[in-house]
This record gives sequence, C-alpha cells and structure tokens, in this order.
Amino acid sequence: MRAHRPTPEFPRHLEALYARFPFARSLEDDPISALRPLAWDPFRAEVAGIFGATLAIGNTTAIRGAIGRLSELVHGDVARLVDPDRTRERARLLAGFRHRWIRGDQLAHLGSVLGRYYGGHRSLETAFLLGFEERGFAAGLDTLARTLRGSGRSPPGYRALFPSPLDAPGSPCKRLTLFVRWMVRSGTPDLGCWRRVPTGALRVPLDQHVHWIGYHLGLTARRTRSWSAVEEVSEALRRIDPLDPVRFDFVLCHTGISGDCPKERDLAVCGPCSVRPDCLLWRGRRVAE
Ligand code: SF4
Repeated sequence: MRAHRPTPEFPRHLEALYARFPFARSLEDDPISALRPLAWDPFRAEVAGIFGATLAIGNTTAIRGAIGRLSELVHGDVARLVDPDRTRERARLLAGFRHRWIRGDQLAHLGSVLGRYYGGHRSLETAFLLGFEERGFAAGLDTLARTLRGSGRSPPGYRALFPSPLDAPGSPCKRLTLFVRWMVRSGTPDLGCWRRVPTGALRVPLDQHVHWIGYHLGLTARRTRSWSAVEEVSEALRRIDPLDPVRFDFVLCHTGISGDCPKERDLAVCGPCSVRPDCLLWRGRRVAE
C-alpha cells in the first residue's frame, strides 16, 4: 500500500497551525509549567528537568501532580535531590513516593547517581555531548542514558527508566528526548539551559499524540512508535524548519491533548484545522457530508 503523504502545501498549513496556536492555554496544562519558574537558574532547572522528564508518564495532569508532589517533599528545593550529603534524608523523604510504576527508591537512586556526577561536572550537557559530538543525536542520548543509569547496584527496574536508541531501538526514548528539548531550545516554551547543542539537531519527543498526528499527516508511515519513527517525523519537520524543527512538537502534542484534534472525522472540530488538507482522515474526501 502506498504511504500517505501530506500535500505540497503542508509547510504552509503547519506554519498556520503554529501561528494560531494558543500557547498560553496549553502551557498551563504542560509539565514544563512547573519548570519554567526555574529557568533563571540552569542548574536547578536541569535537576528539576531530569526528575520531571523521568516522571513524564501518563497524562499531563498526572505528570504535573507527580512533579508537584516531588517538589513538596523537598520543600521546593530541588537541589536537595542531588545533594551527596543527604543520601539518607533523600531515601527517607522519597520512600513512599510513587507515580505509575516509578518508585521513590528509584528516584532516590537517581539523586545519588546525579550527586556523584555533579561532583565532577557542571551539567548533564557534558554527558550528552560526549556521544553527540562524535556520532550525532542518538549517540548523545545514549551517553546521557548511560550516565543516568550509573554503575554498580541499583533498585529493581531503575536502569530501564533510561532507554537509549542504541540499545532499545524499539523505544521512542520520549522522556530523555523531551528532557533534551527542554534544555536546548530557548524559544517558547523551553528553558534554554544548554548552549552547545544546536536546535537543528534535536529529535521530536514522540508521545502518542505526536505519533498519531504525525502518522495521519504522513510524516511517518510507521504505525507504532520506535526510534525509527522518531527519526522520520523529525526529518519531516526539519525539511520545514532546518534550524528549529522541534518547535512544532508542543503544538502537535497539545493539539491532541487539548481536544483541538478529535482523532476522528468530525466536521465541527476539524473544520478550522489548518492541516486538514493533509490529514489522512480527510485527504481526498469531500468536506460537505
Ligand atoms: S483534520 Fe481533524 S483529525 Fe485531522 S489533524 Fe485536523 S483536527 Fe485532527
């Protein structure tokens, strides 16, 4: 079967969707709303960001709730999470924490791994650059994931929290890719804490909303999420904006989250959709029914 392709006017349609998008509305709903107040302090923003991205499982309300509960446990001082002198305190504070299948002991271990790392490095950007500068984005994500996994013993399930495109290509590695987007982009809504990774090299954090709309707009023909699908959607967006392809991620994601896209043919909702001419559900079909 021939793969679905967007229309030649798709770049203009996507830019229109981006230009009209109500960022302020969706920012309130997005987990990054909990991190943006820390953007003035790159270290604290990075620490809050890696814990927040690790918790980015489930819907946005649940993720914001989990980040909020974690922040309350450390009285808003996220640096406590990685203080090497507070290992026992951290374990005690996080003992009862749970978000989906992520447990407090795993987060406490992440704090210990990061505490050791920050003893010798200023930022996780260094870990990412180790692979990125030699072999590109996927290799950067790999060295970042390996750094976060640490060495030695870890709680059950801990290492699986940080898949890498090089050893788990069936995973879209959404949470680490999202973390890198938060750190690298300085445009709305991101934090711009890292300065050495070009925005043009970023990959899209492929959650289910972005994958659904990416598939139906013909940005990937893959029906399941994987690192290959990440590369295809990212490349399609890079052809539209080579310098900042991932700026479209927030809009595509929240078009799904907000209900602006019902994920089915609905003339009342789809009528004003800028990318309707490219959408597999409408392409080649008459609008009036
Ligand atoms: S046309 Fe409708 S289903 Fe297709 S992307 Fe737009 S809102 Fe979603």
